[in-house]
Amino acid sequence: MSLLTVGTVAFDDIETPLGKADRIVGGAAMYISITASYFVNPINLVSVIGDDFPKEELDYMASKGINLEGLQVKEGEKSFFWAGRYHDDLNSRDTLDTQLNVLADFDPVLPEAYKNSDFVMLGNLTPAVQMRVLEQLPEKPRFVAMDTMNFWMDTAMEGLLEVLKKVDCLVINDEEARQLTGEHSLVKAAEKILQMGPKYLVIKKGEHGALLFYEDKIFFAPALPLAEVFDPTGAGDTFAGGFIGYLAQSGDLSFENMKRAVIFGSAMASFCVEKFGNERLKGLSSDEINQRVGRFVELVNFDAQL
Ligand code: AMP
Repeated sequence: MSLLTVGTVAFDDIETPLGKADRIVGGAAMYISITASYFVNPINLVSVIGDDFPKEELDYMASKGINLEGLQVKEGEKSFFWAGRYHDDLNSRDTLDTQLNVLADFDPVLPEAYKNSDFVMLGNLTPAVQMRVLEQLPEKPRFVAMDTMNFWMDTAMEGLLEVLKKVDCLVINDEEARQLTGEHSLVKAAEKILQMGPKYLVIKKGEHGALLFYEDKIFFAPALPLAEVFDPTGAGDTFAGGFIGYLAQSGDLSFENMKRAVIFGSAMASFCVEKFGNERLKGLSSDEINQRVGRFVELVNFDAQL
């Protein structure tokens, strides 16, 4: 199976209660594609960067089976930039700066080799660009998931609602689900979102885990309790990369398998937060990943005589 992903490849300035990192490599599609590459190959990346992006990061991505043919490099321009500061609870953050730079007039062009991708992850970026990617696919892929964020709800809600009609699954966080629907209850928010287009919905709740909604079913996956969370940036995208990567690897779209995919996504996100940026995501072994998933199994496994 092949996975197509679109999203930002960026520079981030991050401040957490444990430290500060300036101009580190970030972006939704960077996190998604590196994470998914542990499960499936090739990953067909669609994005845009300036000529300021480090070559060694691109080489690393290529070495992970990430196809960079659809990554446009704009000479003399700057990559997308985001700055954020986390609150003491590490579950909430303020965006301090968003500079679209190359993203402002990005027109994605899908290379021929990408057009038969089976799985698609529309990472967080301009809804119009997410739509342009879908429009270039000659046939509907087996499964399309999307992510978005409050920034696009504030600036491009109409376009976002159009993309939502075309996807099978939405992956967003609790705050975003509330903003999208105007409902505080996540159950009510889920009911509304499942009428907007997607059949499946994942609501991420940071250190409080994630909920998967499908028809009238709900599945809960915890987040791994960690002694120290260093930097939550990218955890949501890493979750999405693990979720869709696992689905694409197995090719199984049953609800039972979606549950497993949510656990794999949560396990990958638990690595991401252990170090700044993408540091911890690089060089993981399959043993490490399987052991981490095993800890989730232990965490929720219990016997009940009913
Ligand atoms: P996450 O922590 O999973 O929500 O994702 C953080 C990543 O999203 C950072 O690496 C940023 O570069 C990227 N990001 C921040 N704001 C936006 C935005 N408005 N659109 C797309 N990507 C963004």
